[in-house]
Amino acid sequence: MAEHQFKTMGEQSGRRSWAEPWKIKMVEPLRMTTPEERQKALVEAGYNTFLLRSAEVYIDLLTDSGTSAMSDRQWAGLMLGDEAYAGSVNYYHLETAIQEVYGYKYIVPTHQGRGAEHLISQAVIQKGQYVPGNMYFTTTRLHQELAGGIFVDVIVDEAHDPENLNPFKGNIDLDKLESLIKEKGPEQIAYVSLAGTVNMAGGQPVSMANVKALRALCDRYGIKLYLDATRMVENAYFIQCREEGYEGKPVAAILKEFCSYTDGAWMSGKKDHLVNIGGWLAINDYPLFEELRNLVVIYEGLHTYGGMAGRDMEAMAIGIYESIQDDHIRARVGQVQYLGDLLRDWGIPVVQPIGGHAVFLDARKFYPHLSQDLFPSQTLAAELYLDSGIRSMERGIVSAGRDPHTGQHRYPKLELTRLTIPRRVYTEAHMDVVAESVKAVYQNASKATGLNMVYEPKYLRFFQARFVPAAR
Ligand SMILES: *Cc1c(COP(=O)(O)O)cnc(C)c1O
Repeated sequence: MAEHQFKTMGEQSGRRSWAEPWKIKMVEPLRMTTPEERQKALVEAGYNTFLLRSAEVYIDLLTDSGTSAMSDRQWAGLMLGDEAYAGSVNYYHLETAIQEVYGYKYIVPTHQGRGAEHLISQAVIQKGQYVPGNMYFTTTRLHQELAGGIFVDVIVDEAHDPENLNPFKGNIDLDKLESLIKEKGPEQIAYVSLAGTVNMAGGQPVSMANVKALRALCDRYGIKLYLDATRMVENAYFIQCREEGYEGKPVAAILKEFCSYTDGAWMSGKKDHLVNIGGWLAINDYPLFEELRNLVVIYEGLHTYGGMAGRDMEAMAIGIYESIQDDHIRARVGQVQYLGDLLRDWGIPVVQPIGGHAVFLDARKFYPHLSQDLFPSQTLAAELYLDSGIRSMERGIVSAGRDPHTGQHRYPKLELTRLTIPRRVYTEAHMDVVAESVKAVYQNASKATGLNMVYEPKYLRFFQARFVPAAR
């Protein structure tokens, strides 16, 4: 991997700095807390950052989901909400935006991403079929399993190595996929589940070459290829930066080309689309669309709102066009790179290359003395909150959950704590404060004793599990 591809934005543009392509019109004050307040809040939250109240948080890096700052145009769009039960004007704006920007034919609106995952899983998976994908995502895999599918991870091996500098660690390993198809038979594969900038691998992108080859492989066996497009704009930006033949191409064109190799997509609008709620499913196959449009009225709402208010659809339609502006996406990913580069330069173990939406701390390296059963990533999230009031998220053994067949913990190779950067919300000064807190926690890491889980919900346990400190 050529060194120059990972230089900071300032270095790339010949020592000229970049800046956010917006200015601030309205501010929301942040509240600082004392160490005593944080200690009390953390105990009440069962050492789970999901159970903290946001009023107890200083800089909130829990997630980039639904936490974006909307533009003045999006806020204006809210006032244009057409709240008719059926056939809202805003639905048609949204439909046009998705068709123009992503290129799919038929659109089904949903309240958020998992609503779309539920519908597609129910419609296309038959009990006992396999669903190969490039590393799992929590809600995606759960919906596939609830529909009777068996998820199989076919991501490249490099994805499991936090230090490997491969620029496209989100790629599917085509040999692994083909072996699975040959072993089980193509009719036993429900579809290939491809995700852009793979979250659980540290926000790592898929190359255009990989999706092209994947398309050809799927065609050879008559298998459908569906895309989790949640962070595909960020993925398209990485292709622009890293893949031969795409330098200088607009992110919008790269995104549309990528999607053209897939048969449909589901989307959490709460990420790339710069809105606080919303999602969709898009498909090119008309009979399948009819079935999905029928399912949506059972689970989400009428097929022209799918759980969203008219105003939400308008804000999302506007956000879709804003999200593919090259200036926007460069600043968005650039801020994440800034934080990641700072930590890496201080010798703090982070997943590399730095991802598109978050910096992932390597909790195994923070706490080599803690076994995975003591929840190192959860421990790190708790320690960060105690140090400064910064909220992060566990992405390790707690998120991985239990194997539905054996009931045992899944032991993922990656034990990560995610610092997720909301879009257009924080400044570079906030990133400096975050980096300094991470450094302080790293310097005290040998004192940590880990956590024991004392309450475990059945599904998606990371959201609501409770912990207590382990004995020294
Ligand atoms: C957030 C997310 C989802 C689920 O979307 P929600 O809007 O949270 O329901 C699915 N896939 C990926 C990759 C995500 O990040």
